[in-house]
Amino acid sequence: MTVRTRFAPSPTGYLHLGGARTALFNWLLARQTGGQFVLRVEDTDRERSTEESVQAILDGMDWLGLDYDEGPFFQTRRYDLYKEIIERLVESGHAYRCYCSKESLEEMREKARLEKRKPRYDGTCRDRTEPVPGVEPVLRFKTPLDGKVVIDDLVKGKIEIDNAELDDLVICRSDGNPTYNLSVVADDIDMRITHVVRGDDHINNTPRQIHIFNALGAPLPKFAHLPMILGDDGKRMSKRHGAVSVMQYQQEGILPQALLNYLARLGWSHGDQELFSLDELKTLFSLEACQKSGSVFDNTKLLWVNQQHMAQLSGAELGDQLQLELKEMGIDTAAGPSPEKLAGLLRERAQTVKDMAVQSRIFYVDDVELDPKAAQKQLRPVSLAVLQAVQAELQSESQWTAANLKQRLDNVAQSLEVGFGKIGQPLRVAITGGSASPDIADTLELIGQERSVARIGKAIEYVEKRSAG
Ligand code: GLU
Repeated sequence: MTVRTRFAPSPTGYLHLGGARTALFNWLLARQTGGQFVLRVEDTDRERSTEESVQAILDGMDWLGLDYDEGPFFQTRRYDLYKEIIERLVESGHAYRCYCSKESLEEMREKARLEKRKPRYDGTCRDRTEPVPGVEPVLRFKTPLDGKVVIDDLVKGKIEIDNAELDDLVICRSDGNPTYNLSVVADDIDMRITHVVRGDDHINNTPRQIHIFNALGAPLPKFAHLPMILGDDGKRMSKRHGAVSVMQYQQEGILPQALLNYLARLGWSHGDQELFSLDELKTLFSLEACQKSGSVFDNTKLLWVNQQHMAQLSGAELGDQLQLELKEMGIDTAAGPSPEKLAGLLRERAQTVKDMAVQSRIFYVDDVELDPKAAQKQLRPVSLAVLQAVQAELQSESQWTAANLKQRLDNVAQSLEVGFGKIGQPLRVAITGGSASPDIADTLELIGQERSVARIGKAIEYVEKRSAG
């Protein structure tokens, strides 16, 4: 049996983390077995579905590299199939026309509320033979009255639901449009889906869908319901928690392979291993090793995972990423060091490519802003002699390499009889504007001689003004 999985998003928003994880798990299952992964856009809710949202979902999948073998299919283009399935259910006696008015349904609900029962359609039209003139009926599925449905969920285990708990659900509205549960089953049959892997917010739909599969004589797919991703308050992750489109993570400089790794670990584990390449995920992933309950999204951990994936990139790859990010920030890299070299210097100091790009700025532009605190502490009248000596020493260097520069700075420290820190810190503030940077000699090398000397000059002016003022 070839494994066929699907990702079936409703295009009513961006591709969020939960959706991306569902897509990933379906994709992994298909890829690890040489099966197929289908993308199906569930756009039947015409009021809430938008073109932009479809595009956002496609872009998100594309960025993450979750390629599909079939699709995208759109449910709104598949109404003929749903009609045919509905007709089959009516003909085989599994569906019936219901003429109950809104008011009488409301009464039923109210009665159930008063009697503290679950609101449920009371079956008024189940055995009706005559139509009600002037009323356009809906079609309801004839749910068995007794017995139970058993779901052998690959993640949650065995779940049993009494049929008495289930309603005769509407499968076709009075305007002829199919309802959600009907179109999902029709498509899962038509697309020969073998594994339905989705969020556990759909678990209530599963027994209803199983009844429809059975009524149509179709083999059941395997079901797996994934626990929700939670915010730090233990509630389902939502916009309130800053849950965002996966594309926002791209903008923040997260690598797609890092996000996939992190998402995989949110709900699945393999011993205590935290870092996985995509190939490893493909080999190791299994639904059986998924957690049954929700896991909390942890941005700090995502950043750590990202940093670990950045460390795996070659200098050239990381340089390319940095180049792209700098371009995005409007920074022309022609006027400074090669991004690859710079990435080498900064790779251990940044958790994201974006972070790295922000730290790279001072290597390309001269409007370095002085951090007031750092300037206050380091650019003091006593530093004047240090800065002047360093400037003179650096100005005369003809071989601008980190090793030579280190030597020059040591010379200054010796001749002024001060520790290296007394030189390094004011110099760092002069060059970078702040008190944190990679090794100062390495930094100077990449910033270049002319720029470095000019920046020291500016710092000298700053100190002189401060002494005068
Ligand atoms: N369209 C549903 C959703 O976006 C998914 C349905 C399914 O996977 O069966 O939540």
